[in-house]
Order: sequence, then C-alpha cells, then structure tokens
Amino acid sequence: MRIATITNWAYGATVCLTIISGVVMLMASNADNVERQAVEQRQVFDQLTEEIEVEIWSLSDLARLYVIKQDSDVLAEYQQKEQSMKAVEHRLAKLKDNGATDEELALLHEGLRVVDALQDEQQTALAQVTRGEQSQALALLYGKPYEQELERAQDQIDHFRLMLDRRAQDAVQQATNTSRLLRTLSEVMVAVTALLFLFVLGFILKRRVLRPVVRLSDVVNRLASQDYAVETPNFNQIDEIGDMAQAIRIFRENGLVRQRLEKERDADWAIRELLARMTQRLQGCENFEDVINVAQLFAPNIAPGIAGRIYILDRDPWQMRCVAQWLAPEGEQDPFHPDACWAVRRGQSHPPVNGEPDIACYHLPETCANHSLCVPLIAQGEAIGLLSFQNITPETAPSRAYLELMAEALGLALANQRLRDALLEKALHDPLTGLRNRHHLEDTLRTQISLAARNAEPVSCLMIDIDHFKNINDRFGHEAGDRVIKSVAAIIQRAVHDTGVAFRYGGEEFLALLTGVDEEGAHACATEIFEGVHTLSMRYGLSEIGPVDVSIGIASYPEHVQSDNLLRAADVALYRAKELGRSRIVSFGMLEPG
Ligand code: GH3
Ligand code: MG
Ligand code: MG
Repeated sequence: MRIATITNWAYGATVCLTIISGVVMLMASNADNVERQAVEQRQVFDQLTEEIEVEIWSLSDLARLYVIKQDSDVLAEYQQKEQSMKAVEHRLAKLKDNGATDEELALLHEGLRVVDALQDEQQTALAQVTRGEQSQALALLYGKPYEQELERAQDQIDHFRLMLDRRAQDAVQQATNTSRLLRTLSEVMVAVTALLFLFVLGFILKRRVLRPVVRLSDVVNRLASQDYAVETPNFNQIDEIGDMAQAIRIFRENGLVRQRLEKERDADWAIRELLARMTQRLQGCENFEDVINVAQLFAPNIAPGIAGRIYILDRDPWQMRCVAQWLAPEGEQDPFHPDACWAVRRGQSHPPVNGEPDIACYHLPETCANHSLCVPLIAQGEAIGLLSFQNITPETAPSRAYLELMAEALGLALANQRLRDALLEKALHDPLTGLRNRHHLEDTLRTQISLAARNAEPVSCLMIDIDHFKNINDRFGHEAGDRVIKSVAAIIQRAVHDTGVAFRYGGEEFLALLTGVDEEGAHACATEIFEGVHTLSMRYGLSEIGPVDVSIGIASYPEHVQSDNLLRAADVALYRAKELGRSRIVSFGMLEPG
C-alpha cells in the first residue's frame, strides 16, 4: 500500500475518532443534564405534594374548627385555603409535562380524588352548620370514615412521593452510569487517536525520512567510489528527500556519461595505437605474406566483432582473389570479377553511409548485404585489392573510419611491397637472361648448403663458360653475342629447372646449384646442357653463327669438397676443361690431386 494512502487513511481515522470522541463527550455532558433534570423534577414534585399535604390537613383543621366554633373568620380563612388548594391542584394537573409517568399520575389523581371527596364532605358539613345541624356536621368531620379518607389521601400522596423518589434515584443512577461510560469511552478514543497519531507519525518518519536518507546515503557512498552501476532510488515525493534523490540521479547520469566518454576515449586511443602499431609492422614487412599476416592479425582487434576478408587483384586472370579472412565471414571465398564490387568500381568505400538503402556488392551473400562494408585498397590511384567487412552494425559503425584508415595503410604497404619486389627483381636478376645474378648467389649457396648439411643431402655446382665467345662477338657483333648468351641461358634454365637454380655468373659464364644432386646427377645435367648448346643452331641475320660449345666444371658437396670450397672447386674443374681443349665436361672428382 502506498504511503500516501496509509497517511490518508490514518488522517481520516484520526479525524473520525476525534469527532466520535467529541460526540461521546457531548453525550456524557448530556447525561449529566438528564441527571440534573431528574433531580429538578423531583424537587418540583416534592414541593407541590408537600403543599397539597399541608393544604389537606390545614383545610380539614379549618373545617373542623368552623364546625365547632362557627366563627365567620375561620370560614373566610377556609375558603381562602380552598382557593389556594385549587391552584396547587391545577399545577399538579400539569405535572405530566414535567416528565411524570402515567402510573405516578394515576396515583396522584387518585389522591386528588380522595382530597376532592374530603372537600365535598367538608362542604356538606359546612352546609349542615349553616342549616343548624351542628351535631351531624361534627359526626361527619370527626367520624371514622372521614378519618379513613384523610389517611387514605395521605397514603396516596406518600406512595406517589415514594415512587417519585425511586424513579428520580433510578434516573440519577442511570444518568451517572451513562455519563461515566461515555466519559470512559471518550477517554479511550482520545487515547486511541493519540496512539494512532503517534504510530502514523513514527511510521512516516521511518518510511518517508529515515529509510530514504539511509538509502540515499548508501547510494552517495557508492557513487563516491565511482560505482555507477548502483541503482538510484526513485523517490518522487515533492520534498527535500525527493530533491536529494533527483540531484543524486542527475549526478549518477552525469557520471555514467563521463564514464562512457572515458571508455570511448580509451577505446579510441587503443584502436589508434593498434593502427599505429599495425602501420609500423607493415613498414617492416619483407614480403607479401608478411603484409597479409599483419593485416589478418590486427584487423579483428581494430574492429572487434567485424568479420572480414582481404582480396588481392590478380592480373592474369583479371580477378579479385581472397588471400586472408577472419572471424568466419559469411559466403564462399571464391575469386570474383572486380566489377562485382561497387567499392572497387567507384574507388571508394561502399556503401558510403551505414544503414541507409543502397545497392549491394554482387560478390557478397544476400544475407549480409545490409550490414557490410567494402573498402578498396588503393595504390597510385588504382584499386589493387579490397577489404570486405561484414557484421557492420550501428554499435560497430563508429569504427568505420578506422577500417578506412586500415585499408589505406594496407594499400600503401601492398604498393610498397610491389615496388620492393620489382626493385628486388631488378637487383637480383640479370636483365638479359632473366637468370639470377651473382648477388643472389651468396645467399642461395649458404641456404642450400646448410639445408643439405641438415638433411644429409648432396649439393652440386656446375660452372659453365661459353667457349671462344669473344670470337662470336668479334665476328657477328655484340648483339649476336647477346642472343647466344640468352639461348645458352635458356638451355641451362631448362636443364636445372626441377633440381636447382641457375645464375649468370658474369659475361658468358653461368653457374648452377643443384640441390640433393650428387656428382652423377650433376654430370647428367651437365651433359644435357652441353648437348643442348652443342646442337643449338643459331642464325644472325643471313649468317649462320655456327656451332657453339661450352666447357663445364662440376664439383659436389660433400663428395669432393666442404661447403665453403664448392664454387672454387667447380671453377678449378672448369679451368681444367679449358686447359684440356674446351668443349667438355670435367668433374672435380676426376682431377688428379695436386
Ligand atoms: P675462352 O674460350 O677462353 O672462354 O675464350 P673466350 O673468348 O670465351 O673468353 P674471353 O674471356 O677471352 O672473352 C669473353 C668475352 O665476352 C669478352 C667480352 O667482351 C665478352 N662479353 C662479356 N659480357 C658480354 C655480354 O654481355 N655480351 C656480349 N656480346 N659479350 C660479352
Ligand atoms: Mg668463354
Ligand atoms: Mg669466360
């Protein structure tokens, strides 16, 4: 039950009890009046009956005296008394108005009737005296019947007064009792009213003041310790407690907003830091795979809950190919034509605004078309790839700017990687033959020898030199010489393709490193090269260049030498082949020691 209802009920009950106790008090005072009236009534009756009693005896005495003395003064006095007696009788006739009962009145009237009979007898006696019949008058007034009548009148009046006394006493007693009862009742009601008032006052103090204050104090303490999860009490009353609750509510709401802003700022900083770290890592990437790995690792942290894929634009065939994905995006990661993506077509993020109707990219499954974002990876104004995000919701939408920043950094890193690959390609490969150049050799040799040592496998080296190449240059020109070099390089590349790596060692000298190939296998490979070159038929313009031959030196690890002497041993073998007349294959193992 609401406190307001309780207080209203209590207020109503208090008012009712107060009114009732007031009425009861009035009734008690009325009972006093009844008592007073009963006493007054009794006094009136007492006085009148006493007068009648006195008058009866006085009239009787005067009549008797007149009968004896026959004095006219006595007669005059008798007649006067008789008149006053009539006045008293007249007053007694009105007694019913003063509250006399029928029984009492009947008794009184009987008494008065006896008195009337006595008066009649007195009149008769007085008439007898006037007629001179004194003895008969004496016999009438002093006779026994007259005496009896007189006593009967006296008895009736006494009886009436007795009844009157009893009734007055009863009335006084009843009025006293009623008054006492009503007073007690009134006192009890006043006490109950006071108790109810005190109870309601205490109840309201406890419920409306004490409890709210304790509750508010607890909330304030928790808010002071930055515990904004605390629920503020909902005191809506219009008083100081209500004002305090309202102020605390506003304070908590402000605190929550501040906390949210701080959280957002912290999250913002964390994402910026992640972006900065990702950019740093991208700058340190050595190859394309590094770039993709870094992006795949950082993307789900920069945009938590957003699944995505990275696509790279392949030129042959012309398609977007998925190279990485995270958080299990919907749909297959099949390649698609770049035109299937509106972001790639337009060269900017698509859709441009989250949540508003727009055409969906055709490469996305229909289920995620409304909450996806495609950001092209741009390099030198060209889309070179695509970041495709899913699960973009209003909650994750603020990270959209970060997704675009990520795409920008990623596009830049991929472009750098392409540039770097192109430069590396140029730096490590011979432009004429397409073979690797000497810069590559050192690294490759070290890697292959250590791999072979670990796997207990052989490595062989072929050192190949075109014989009398200077003559070709001299006879047909430098350009023809270049074409010979290219052709020989192609033959070598073909021969070593499956088993090793070919290098242009310098001028018209080549080198091949054959992994997992011993001297025998190397000899077979050298033979293939030797014969391939030997059977080469080359023309330059109208002239036949003529047969081209090579000398090949072979050395094998670990059959012939230790790892660090492999090149030198092959070179020695080649030198020996030249010495022996060129156009031949010489293995280091065939050389005589010394
Ligand atoms: P040998 O049988 O002893 O190897 O004699 P050779 O003439 O092949 O060897 P030599 O070292 O005397 O001559 C090599 C020549 O190759 C010298 C140089 O002008 C020429 N040469 C080096 N690089 C190139 C090149 O890239 N193109 C052309 N056309 N000639 C080159
Ligand atoms: Mg040569
Ligand atoms: Mg040479």
